Formats: sequence, C-alpha cells, structure tokens
Amino acid sequence: MAGGTLDHKCPNCDAVLKFNPHGQNWVCEYCQSKFTREEIDAQEAKKGHVLNEETEADKLEKDAEGMDVYSCPNCGAQIVADENTSATFCVYCRSTAILKNKLVGKFNPAYVIPFQKTKEDAIEAFKKIGKGRPFMPKLFSSKQNIEDMKGVYIPFWLYDFGVSGALEADAKRISSWTSGNYRYTKTDTYRAYREGNMTFHKIPVDGSTRFNDDMMNSIEPFDYAGLQTFTHAYLSGFLAEKYDVDSDAARKGAEVRAKNTATSMLQESIHGYDAVSVLKADHNLELLKNEYVLLPVWMLNIQYQGKIYMFAMNGQTGKLIGDIPIDKKKVAIWWIGITLLLFGILTVIWLIGGLL
Ligand SMILES: [Zn+2]
Ligand SMILES: [Zn+2]
Repeated sequence: MAGGTLDHKCPNCDAVLKFNPHGQNWVCEYCQSKFTREEIDAQEAKKGHVLNEETEADKLEKDAEGMDVYSCPNCGAQIVADENTSATFCVYCRSTAILKNKLVGKFNPAYVIPFQKTKEDAIEAFKKIGKGRPFMPKLFSSKQNIEDMKGVYIPFWLYDFGVSGALEADAKRISSWTSGNYRYTKTDTYRAYREGNMTFHKIPVDGSTRFNDDMMNSIEPFDYAGLQTFTHAYLSGFLAEKYDVDSDAARKGAEVRAKNTATSMLQESIHGYDAVSVLKADHNLELLKNEYVLLPVWMLNIQYQGKIYMFAMNGQTGKLIGDIPIDKKKVAIWWIGITLLLFGILTVIWLIGGLL
C-alpha cells in the first residue's frame, strides 16, 4: 500500500518488520536488522505522522488506514490485523468462513503490554501439558494443529477510582475460661466505625465476551508495569480482538471490585478483635481514569468430537491453562491390553498351580 501508515517496513531493504517478543524490538524478516521502539517512532514521525500536528479527526482516520478486520459470522468475533498478518480462521470458534474487510473507524488502544513470549515458547508449553498424558487424542499432538497457535491481543478496560468509604462493623472479643465444673465464655461487642479515602489504579475488566472469564482469571495476573504506549507496530505478526463490551458496560464490574476491596481494606483496619462483621458499608466512587488497553495471550483452539478445547498462555508471564480431553478409544485399548495381560498372568499362575 503506497503511503500507508501502518506498513512498518525495514528502512534498509523494505521488507516487513515483525515484533520480536524476546528482544522487545522489531526485526526485519529479510535482512535481520533490528529496530528499537524509538527508531520505530522516529520512522513514523518521518513519514509525516507526527501525531500532535494532526487534528483529532485526522488521527482517527489514519488509525484505521491499512488495518484489516476479520469478522466471524459464526461467533461474532472481530479480529483486527495489519495487512501483513492474515487470519484464515476464527481464533475463537475455528470457523473458516470469516469475512475480511478494511477496518473503518478507530482502533485506538491507549496502552499495550507487548508479547514477551514467542510462538515457540507457547508451543513448547503446550507440548509439555501433553507429556505424561498417554490418553491424549492424536489431534492434540499433531504438528499441523499446534502450529495454529495464535498471538492475540485481548481488549481490556483499566479503571482508576478515587473512593471515599465509610464502614460500620460489630467487633467481638471472645474470652473463655473454666472454673470448677463450668466453662464460661464472655463476648464483648464493640461498634467500630471507619472512614477512609483510597485510590485504586488499573482495575482490569475484560472487553471481550468471547474470551472466557475463567480462562482469563487462570492466566492472570498481568504486570501492568509492562504497559507501553500503543503503536500499531506492536501488531505486526499478531492479531487483536476488537472490544465488544464498551467502557460503560465494563465499568460496573470495576466499580463492584473497587467497592468490595474498599470494604475489606476498611474492615482489615479494625485490629485486635476475634471477629469483625460488617453492618454497613458506604462508598462514593469517582472515576479518575479509564483506558482501553491490549493484553497479550497465546491461544490455541482444537476441535475434538464437536467440542472446542482451548489452550491459553499469558503472553507476558507464560502462565497457562489448557483443557485436553481423553481419547476414549485409547483408554479402551489400554484396558483391553491390561485385561489380556492379567488374564495371561492368571493363566500362568493357574498352570503353575496345577503343576505343583
Ligand atoms: Zn531489512
Ligand atoms: Zn468465530
């Protein structure tokens, strides 16, 4: 694409630059030249895309330029990729009937945690899960399937809240002693009040309804110290899901989490009692910041007997979760083998017994 904004090309040879998770830099696929974030930004600026000289409208329009969006009519996923990275199937439902279009509108995450684990790291981790599982269906060790491992940036919302909270609780001190034949228990109850101002930073809420919450919980936490200002160059070689839970809808979840945490913080500040039970908690929340970010996840979906089994790895920390079924046929063969072996042993014992 002539004059495109998002084709990050090697200044030496014009080949495509790909983000390299281990080096946290960009590498030319052809001449192996390496480029830092600063150099990528400088290259962008040289192309005339100095953002602060542009109007907001220019910025949004340019954002979408050169980006493709793959829509899955089967599950509704919308996957964004740059023009050098293509999707041939849906990363969620594995449907191959996906529609490719030019992305229109904005795709403007504020921050991204870049991948730190490579595809090879993810494949290695997946193979390890399979080791020691003799009943794993063949599909799960087939090289062709494993190569379908995809690096996907999952959309998230991060919220900062200022909370002024108040809490009322019953605090109990319980003592007991024995005197003669009797055992006494004395409970002193105190009414405790606590007030406090707290600030919560970066409470995450999933912006994708397709990426299973339980799976996300299993591969969390992400280290938000690793957040980088977003540039489209991070997408080279990766896919990104477009959020389908908007900021207002996601906010409710973050508010509940902030309130619950505020309650437990105030409750924990009541020391020196045997039991504390909260009677009332009132919190006023003020939204300080709300940011759209992308978090890196390696994903592999394998369809087996009509069900989709999903493997996911935190692309930053390597924490993983995987669901691998048991091949019932393999189990049956194993049982037949064991039964025949036992039968054989019993026959031998019987024969030896008969000889004695
Ligand atoms: Zn090059
Ligand atoms: Zn799909």
